[in-house]
Amino acid sequence: MSDLARRSLLTGATGIAGGSLLLSGAGRAAAAPADDIQNILSAAVAWRETAAERDMLYRQGFNIARDRIDAVLRGRGQTRRGDKPLAVICDVDDTVLSADTYWVRLVAAGKQAFDDALWDKWVIENGPTATAGAVEFTRYAESRGVEVFYVSSRDQGPDTQRYGVGNLAHVGLAYADDAHCTFLRESSNKEPAQKAIAETHEVIAYLGDNLNDFRRTYYVKSVAQRKVLAGEDAEEFGRRFILFPNNTDGHWVGAIFGESEPADTPAYRERMLQAALNQVP
Ligand SMILES: [Mg+2]
Repeated sequence: MSDLARRSLLTGATGIAGGSLLLSGAGRAAAAPADDIQNILSAAVAWRETAAERDMLYRQGFNIARDRIDAVLRGRGQTRRGDKPLAVICDVDDTVLSADTYWVRLVAAGKQAFDDALWDKWVIENGPTATAGAVEFTRYAESRGVEVFYVSSRDQGPDTQRYGVGNLAHVGLAYADDAHCTFLRESSNKEPAQKAIAETHEVIAYLGDNLNDFRRTYYVKSVAQRKVLAGEDAEEFGRRFILFPNNTDGHWVGAIFGESEPADTPAYRERMLQAALNQVP
C-alpha cells in the first residue's frame, strides 16, 4: 500500500468517526469502534459525495449532449419548413437531479437499503440538487431552440407531478413546467411517454442513469442478460444514449435482487456480498 493510500485510509477513518458522532446523535452506536461500523452502502455513498470523478462524468455526459445539439443544428443548416422541432429527453433522478443528499440522510439514519418514506419526505422538502452541469446544459439547449423533456417514474401520491416539477424548477433547470415533465406513478415503462414526444419532436438524445431510460427492452431481471442487451447497442452510448453513473440504485439492483428496492434483511446483505463476488447470474 502506498503512503498516499495509507493517508487516504486515515482520512477515511476520520470521516467514519464523524459518521459515528452523527449516528450517536440519533441514539445509535454511540461508542462503536470504527471496526464495528458497517453499512454496505458506505463506499457507494462516499463515492457519490466525494469523488470529483463523478462530477466530471456528469460534465462529460452533458458535454456530449451539447456537442450533439451543435452537430445536429450544423447538419440542419437553415431551419427547413416542415422539420420537427428538436428535443432531448432526460430522466430526472441522478440524471439532472442528484440524489446525493437523500443517500447521506439514509446512511446517517443507519439504514442500509432504499427507504421509500425517507425518499418521499426528501422529494417533498425539495431535497434534490442539480447534477454537475445539468442547469447549464438545459439552459444551453433552450438557447439553441432545443426543447428538454423530462420523463421520470416517481410516486408521492396525487401531487407527484407538482412535487416533481417543483424539484426541477427549484434548482433552476430549463423547461421545468407541466408541458415538458411527465412523472409516471404507475409504471417504470417510459416508452409510451417517449414515443408521444417523438411524434411531435425529433429526439436527438436520451439522457439517463438507468438502461430503462433508453429502451424498455433492457428491463430484464438478469445481470447477464442486461449486459448482453446493452452490449448489442454499444454504438449508441455516448451518442444517442447518454449515460450517467448511479452506484446505489436502479434496475441493476433489480437484476441482483429481483426487485429494485429490496428491504434490508440478512438475505439482502448476503446477496449483495454474492453480487460483489460476481456470484449472481
Ligand atoms: Mg434516474
